[in-house]
Amino acid sequence: MKEVLKRAGYRVTRQRLVIFEALRGTTSHPTAEEIYNMVKSRLPNISLGTVYRTLELFERLGVLQRLTFEGSPSRFDGNPKPHYHAICLGCGRVLDADEPVPEDIGRRFSEETGFEIVGYKLEFYGYCKECASKRRENENKG
Ligand code: ZN
Ligand code: MN
Repeated sequence: MKEVLKRAGYRVTRQRLVIFEALRGTTSHPTAEEIYNMVKSRLPNISLGTVYRTLELFERLGVLQRLTFEGSPSRFDGNPKPHYHAICLGCGRVLDADEPVPEDIGRRFSEETGFEIVGYKLEFYGYCKECASKRRENENKG
């Protein structure tokens, strides 16, 4: 991270490093507010605005990815490599879905139509293990 910041001409600050570490150390895909709560014990003077600006900087530098889901605030993923996500409709948590990501997805369509693809979205919706078993319990009761 230090190298990435330096190469891009940004100062290496404790705030930036702590925020980056927090993000790399979790697979929970936190929101900016959750990240703020994660780091504020180590950075007592930090503001939510600084966390937002730092996350925007990291996004520009390509060291994280922003996940946007309809009707909820952006979440941040310390893993910038392409991978899929599964969203639980019960508790709202976002899990990594370890499925192979095809490199040539959309290529045939693009070649046939001249449509220049810059991105695509694939998300799994459903219930995490805990929520699925709660739902089964409720069904059995009802
Ligand atoms: Zn759940
Ligand atoms: Mn992820």
